[in-house]
Amino acid sequence: MADGLATSADRIESVRFGHYAVPLAFAVSDAKVATGRQRPLSQIDVLTCEITTADGLAGLGFSYTTRAGCRAQFAHAKEIAANLLGEDPSAIGAIYDKLLWAGASVGRSGVATQALAAIDVALWDLKARRAGLPLAKLLGSYRDSVRVYNTSGGYLQAPAEEVAERASRSLADGIGGIKIKVGQPDMKEDLRRLAAVREHLGDDVPLMVDANQQWDRAAALRFGRAVEELGLVWIEEPLDAYDAEGHAQLAAALDTPIATGEMLTSVPELVRLIDLRGADFLQPDVPRVGGITPYLKVAALADHANLQVAPHFVMEIHLHLAAAYPRDSWVEHIEWLSPLFDERPVIEDGRMLVPDRPGLGLSLAGQAAGWRLDAAEFTGRL
Ligand SMILES: [Mg+2]
Repeated sequence: MADGLATSADRIESVRFGHYAVPLAFAVSDAKVATGRQRPLSQIDVLTCEITTADGLAGLGFSYTTRAGCRAQFAHAKEIAANLLGEDPSAIGAIYDKLLWAGASVGRSGVATQALAAIDVALWDLKARRAGLPLAKLLGSYRDSVRVYNTSGGYLQAPAEEVAERASRSLADGIGGIKIKVGQPDMKEDLRRLAAVREHLGDDVPLMVDANQQWDRAAALRFGRAVEELGLVWIEEPLDAYDAEGHAQLAAALDTPIATGEMLTSVPELVRLIDLRGADFLQPDVPRVGGITPYLKVAALADHANLQVAPHFVMEIHLHLAAAYPRDSWVEHIEWLSPLFDERPVIEDGRMLVPDRPGLGLSLAGQAAGWRLDAAEFTGRL
């Protein structure tokens, strides 16, 4: 070639899926448990996707569910997997379209696209590894670290004293903010816990609360007015995840910012929230929204609307995407998936550092095999 660059496309040779049930160190309860809608959470189910190519490259991606749905994701991934074989792994857009059409009968949101998410993340990981770049830099990085807050220590099954003590430990570990759960049937109890934690931490520690969709509009407004003086970074999911108008009314009525979006499972659902200005901090989730490819569409629109983006859970993926978002925002520290991987995030001075390793910078740990419930492999060029 005149420019010295090889142009022949690589080809996908094998695709491997795994379904893992990763146990939590202790079960946690948010407001959905307090209101009787869900049981405590004791494990995370993960759908992994490993893709290898004729050039000898490999990519690792994953999706997840809490409580139910991973078997359906795994089944759907298996049904569409043959469409990947022989494809150019760098043509992620074309592959995404092909897989969407393969599963068109079950739609472009929810379980179907969450199965696709594991594949899509593996393709982006592979592409960044091919380039020899961390994913954040492949996507166009703005910074080498992102502000990080802890969520996993702030659940409702723990008394306020334990929440406060875990918060202190998180801060000692270098984490820069603390989120606690609220949304219990007795709002006075929420306010008591919040006051105790604020008192313990002092006024300078960034503090968020998360009601996990358990208030109606009147209760959310009452809570928001009651805590206006506490200077919270945000109030998260005060209302039903699909009540975009209600979130917009709250965001307009309160000085405290509103955060939501983690439960939404398609680009159009998140676009509605952006258009109605239902979130000051938008919280998309790569596995839930169908992968990095749709997430990037959401992020571009959120930036255009001048919103903050604080992606939900899976810090292992979202660290890269938050570093590639124009505004410095927050990544959520929840260590539940860490045992699946050999690597751990590095946290310093309130920020999580983007790793130098190519791709996501993750490899499946040997001990993960002990949590594997199912596996499937597809090889060869059709
Ligand atoms: Mg949340």
